[in-house]
Amino acid sequence: SFITIEGGEGAGKTTLIQALAVKAQQQGYEVMITREPGGIPIAEAIRTVILQKENTAMDARTEALLYAAARRQHLAEKVMPALNQGTVVICDRFVDSSLAYQGHARGLGFDAVWEINRFATEGCMPDLTLYLDLDPEIGLMRIEKNSDREVNRLDLEGLAFHRLVREGFKLVEERFKERFITLDASESPDQVVEKAWQYLEHKLLT
Ligand code: C5P
Ligand code: MG
Repeated sequence: SFITIEGGEGAGKTTLIQALAVKAQQQGYEVMITREPGGIPIAEAIRTVILQKENTAMDARTEALLYAAARRQHLAEKVMPALNQGTVVICDRFVDSSLAYQGHARGLGFDAVWEINRFATEGCMPDLTLYLDLDPEIGLMRIEKNSDREVNRLDLEGLAFHRLVREGFKLVEERFKERFITLDASESPDQVVEKAWQYLEHKLLT
């Protein structure tokens, strides 16, 4: 099964993914955790280019293409082979991030971003997406408290941008209702894990 975790800054994706992986392993599943952009050297190199603080001149379409390129390599080299072996793949971010960030918040539109991602993914889409929904004001506060966390130029883009991202994820939900679950990330980590696990366990059993 292909599971993706989505969410804005400070929503708790990393913590949730680790907890879900442990639970799935305890049930006897082979689990692979990975992340986007990145997960393999070529895609991590692209991530470095995209997220460099100095690259403020990056054009929105360039950014969208780089995310799609990183996604393609990661899928072809790592995710698709694992899925073919029956491994449960839990991926931190996927196409929905591109739709919310580049499509909606950066204003490229869903259709354009979907178009390049259709090419990149060849229709390989998640079986289940768990989206951690959080007021960006709370998310950015959580990040500030946690100072050893990776900080990048996008964290610095301000509240207005992150509100647009959240709005973008709402639109993604409307478009992909059958696989997309929104979880309230303002709840305690234990509560979020418990709810997320109910959805994941159900998906793994069907
Ligand atoms: O996954 P993580 O939270 O570490 O995301 C790294 C950064 O990349 C974040 O600042 C996020 O806002 C940004 N990002 C983006 N567009 C995407 C995926 C991630 O701007 N499609
Ligand atoms: Mg994270």
